[in-house]
Amino acid sequence: MTRVFNFSAGPAALPEPVLRKAAEEMLDWHDSGMSVMEMSHRGKEFIAIHAEAESLLRELLAVPANYKVLFLQGGAIGQNAFVPMNLLRGKSSADYVNTGEWSKKSIKEAKKYCTVNVAATAEASQFTQVPKQAAWKLDPNAAYVHICSNETIGGVEYHWTPDSGDVPLVADMSSNLMSRPVEVSRYGLIYAGAQKNIGPAGVTIVIVRDDLIGNAASFTPSAFDYKQQADNDSMLNTPPTYAIYIAGLVFQWLKAQGGLTAMEAHNRAKAALLYDYLDATSFYTSPVAREDRSLMNVPFKLRDESLDEAFLKGAQARKMLQLKGHRSVGGMRASIYNAMPVEGVKALVAYMKEFEASHG
Ligand SMILES: *Cc1c(COP(=O)(O)O)cnc(C)c1O
Repeated sequence: MTRVFNFSAGPAALPEPVLRKAAEEMLDWHDSGMSVMEMSHRGKEFIAIHAEAESLLRELLAVPANYKVLFLQGGAIGQNAFVPMNLLRGKSSADYVNTGEWSKKSIKEAKKYCTVNVAATAEASQFTQVPKQAAWKLDPNAAYVHICSNETIGGVEYHWTPDSGDVPLVADMSSNLMSRPVEVSRYGLIYAGAQKNIGPAGVTIVIVRDDLIGNAASFTPSAFDYKQQADNDSMLNTPPTYAIYIAGLVFQWLKAQGGLTAMEAHNRAKAALLYDYLDATSFYTSPVAREDRSLMNVPFKLRDESLDEAFLKGAQARKMLQLKGHRSVGGMRASIYNAMPVEGVKALVAYMKEFEASHG
């Protein structure tokens, strides 16, 4: 068996010890005689798995007691609709900050349910930076302010928490939740699909302040009404049981690594290896403003695009996969989430140097 260095943006690499543990427990979880996949979601075994995943997530992120943690389905794209359905609370508009492809999707979806005020946009810079808060035109009557904390495609990340005053701040954290500590109390709602940094595709995490729920629009599907799900411990419908189990194993692994402060240091060190090299060469370029560079997704371009294919082929031969950039931006993208070991980034930088030496 050979494992590769998988730089996929998502679904992404999982920590190897998590996969090994899941393999060990596949046929018989803790002497239950069953796989987790085969368990009733209402049985005591799965209820314990679910409760542990929630309690570890709460501990790792220091989620305050007045926040609900929900494990839902439908992905972050689903949340683009469920957020306005649940959080408009009779209001007719919401503020959105546009930092790139994922913000644009959120805006487009929200427009089906409310008036969207684009409070700030990085369009003029081709989405290579986060607009400075001083330039945001926030509406004090907006139902909420929506941001995407890490643009997975563009590689732009907030390294600060916006101040939305009394208006709840909502963040799509699909690609950086659990990569570093977050001051949850500064947000009204945080959501994330799991398949970037948390577990397999299929479970979506919602962390929501409890005073914001209970006023969903009447047409909100019950399975996506946060209050109904909170009242039923996310089991109003059958939850994605196996994905929740794997997320729980990832949380155990995160705790064993020293928690999110340790993870942040690890992620900063990994990203610095790549960015320092990108800054030192002109063979490759990094489009994103330095202060807004993502620690999770590192887009870069070869100065000579005609070498792209040769670069990817050489990477593949060295067991480094999924480095092709998103079709909307081209070039390359290295996604280096929690599960990417520092050895993977070192191997990538060594290969980039070697490629530069032979083609520069
Ligand atoms: C991947 C991603 C999404 C889409 O998530 P789905 O699970 O496909 O719905 C949305 N937002 C961000 C920031 C992402 O990285």
